[in-house]
Amino acid sequence: MPASGDHTSASPHVVLLPSAGMGHLVPFGRLAVALSEGHGCDVSVAAVLPTVSSAESMHLDTLFAAAPAVRRLDFRLAPFDESEFPGADPFFLRFEATRRSAPLLGPLLDAAQASALVTDIVLASVVLPVAKARGVPCYVLFTSSAAMLSLCAYFPAHLDANAAAGCVGVGDVDIPGLYRIPKSSVPQALHDPKHLFTQQFVANGRSLVASDGILVNTFDAFEPDAITALRQGSVVSDFPPVFAVGPLQPVRFQAANDAAHCMRWLSAQPARSVVYVSFGSRKAISTDQLRELAAGLEASGQRFLWMVKSTVVDRDDAADLGDLLGDGFLDRVQGRAFVTKGWVEQEEILQHGSVGLFISHCGWNSVTEAASFGVPVLAWPRFGDQRVNAAVVARGGLGVWEERWTWDGEKGLVSGEEVAEKINAVMGYDVVAEKAANVGDAAAAATAKGGTSYRSLADFVGRCRDAG
Ligand code: UDP
Ligand code: UDP
Repeated sequence: MPASGDHTSASPHVVLLPSAGMGHLVPFGRLAVALSEGHGCDVSVAAVLPTVSSAESMHLDTLFAAAPAVRRLDFRLAPFDESEFPGADPFFLRFEATRRSAPLLGPLLDAAQASALVTDIVLASVVLPVAKARGVPCYVLFTSSAAMLSLCAYFPAHLDANAAAGCVGVGDVDIPGLYRIPKSSVPQALHDPKHLFTQQFVANGRSLVASDGILVNTFDAFEPDAITALRQGSVVSDFPPVFAVGPLQPVRFQAANDAAHCMRWLSAQPARSVVYVSFGSRKAISTDQLRELAAGLEASGQRFLWMVKSTVVDRDDAADLGDLLGDGFLDRVQGRAFVTKGWVEQEEILQHGSVGLFISHCGWNSVTEAASFGVPVLAWPRFGDQRVNAAVVARGGLGVWEERWTWDGEKGLVSGEEVAEKINAVMGYDVVAEKAANVGDAAAAATAKGGTSYRSLADFVGRCRDAG
């Protein structure tokens, strides 16, 4: 591996810049390893410090330990006064802090002598000019679906058209050459033009055309319509190249002890019998909804493995599981359930033959992991891009989505009875599992040597090499 700066044209030096949150760090780590071990690149990853959650700090440490060839570049953020945005989500605040620190990237890029920079989408509009000023080609890693990329790319034009027509509000979004994203699926924040997320989203969406290309963690066979429409310039004309490189493969980490405990429990369960339940790393679910979900899982009579999350940031989580889920719940389901508040190794769980269904919030990494391993998904989106992703799950044959189940906190709760009914309907319908297995086969074909995603990543590397 060449030292920093003495890379040759045969091994381009690619610098990756993720933003905050596991949903962002995870795909960047996977891309780093794919480029380094699969495509012979010299790779550096900027660790944005400080992190918001313990999960992120641990993830960074284990990533660099598991992939010693990938270099770590510490990127310390400038002080940022969070009181400007009272009550804002801590991850959005960290996006903003990182965006404001973008000028500090210049010296880091100079020292690294990068052949190319890959920035997280949430930083794109402020990072692109810094890279361009130094003549460093700048690509974007889009951390959600191609469907969501089409919304991100088109949304600024949608707002402009609305303003010109004197329309108030966002409404349904008809993506040119693609499909309609109904108002009910547009991320909540985007209905408020003053929201910090909206301002970043619109600025990033406008900036995409200035990038050298966009990598997306999806694959042609899963989202053919969106990928084609973007590549043909139907969504936005003169759109840069779109590299569909997914599903990016999990990095092999040393499993933590409690993770091993849950794997032992899983191994004692019959094939395809366990419902795995997780709503990701990013948002808490209200206590009332948690209780309904608990009632539903109990009433379903199914085995289940449940990763419970009741605070936004893991460092704040001191609640007792028993108190959270209600009197006697844990005793009543003992034996047929494994319930934990700790971090679990999700990709290992999804690969395990005992898992028969994944109740998922449809964070995009979770969707791509389910697709990789052909695990059927019962989509239960709660926030942000998740309803757009849930539609991809349903359209792509990976699972089912009960569209009536609204965002968390909106129009009341989903009752335990409804949850139990839906779980049993999906678990009892073999076609769902068969279709998901087909998606798994298509994912494997896409990432195998010569597959669409493999070739797309090789094409990206070739461009970095030519530029380097
Ligand atoms: N994850 C995990 N263990 C957990 C919770 C999450 O390994 O206990 C991983 C999950 O496999 C995925 C990522 O964290 O790779 C979460 O990203 P996703 O986009 O699914 O959702 P987010 O957490 O950003 O809402
Ligand atoms: N996103 C985007 N443009 C932005 C910010 C976000 O397209 O300026 C996309 C991005 O892919 C992200 C998704 O919207 O994954 C949802 O973002 P959010 O912050 O709601 O959730 P997170 O990714 O942090 O879990």
